[in-house]
Amino acid sequence: MDLGIRGKRALVCASSKGLGRGCAEALAEAGVDLVMNARGREALEQAAQEIRDRFGVTVTTVACDVTTPEGQEQLIEAAQGVDILVTNAGGPPPGMWTDWDREDFIRALDANMLSPIALIKALVPGMMERGWGRVVNITSQSVKSPIPQLGLSNAARAGLTGYVAGTSRQVAPSGVTINNLLPGIHDTDRAASLDDGVSKKEGISAGDARKKREASIPARRYGTPAEFGATCAFLCSQHAGFMVGQNVLLDGGAGNQTM
Ligand code: NAP
Repeated sequence: MDLGIRGKRALVCASSKGLGRGCAEALAEAGVDLVMNARGREALEQAAQEIRDRFGVTVTTVACDVTTPEGQEQLIEAAQGVDILVTNAGGPPPGMWTDWDREDFIRALDANMLSPIALIKALVPGMMERGWGRVVNITSQSVKSPIPQLGLSNAARAGLTGYVAGTSRQVAPSGVTINNLLPGIHDTDRAASLDDGVSKKEGISAGDARKKREASIPARRYGTPAEFGATCAFLCSQHAGFMVGQNVLLDGGAGNQTM
């Protein structure tokens, strides 16, 4: 299917690896020029070059921390005039509800709620003026099925979800859609570190922790960054213009719910 976005430009945050990289690749395959971002410059430059070589699109890189005001400033400057924004950042650490104090919550809110909101506020007005835009926020299955040990993530992502619910309906008349993409477990470094945590807690190997988790998913496997990216590219396509303010779950059936 032609996604109808060839020649458009996208900012994809936190995209040298994992789900962000999957989104960057799928958009590049659809002919979209990219601004890519991560903190680590070496992996970012390597990912950008691989994407240029494979898909022939223009890729600009911005090595910075998307969760800081300085990082956001750099990204906003490099991304002036973009048609598509994919927000993303690393997820907060797991723990017990008694572990976290105010500073932990502020860090989680900065990373997974206030950073996407700052980028939306800076880049969506231009999209509205031009009459077309797409925003996809990478959130988590925890929005629909909160995960007990990920209380920081549950809290911050619930805040972003509420903001998007209202904002998406305010910008839709100008041809801009904002939707959230909710990963269940996917095969990335983040999943490996969560498996390591289970392995330590339960005294089993990381491989066994993964097998146990896979057995709990109806699809009996982890999702791939490529599958995730393909769904993101569809949400950014011409065909998804009537999808507004949705929370799209990609979890292999793990969440047993109808909404
Ligand atoms: P990942 O494998 O850890 O990928 C992280 C990518 O983001 C890397 O390119 C990393 O590069 C970059 N990054 C991390 N923090 C950054 C920051 N502050 N500023 C700029 N770039 C940053 O993570 P993932 O699995 O793709 O997950 C992406 C998001 O989805 C996370 O918020 C995660 O919590 C959420 N999620 C993931 C899963 C899953 O199963 N994978 C499930 C539910 C939710 P640098 O380290 O060089 O900055």
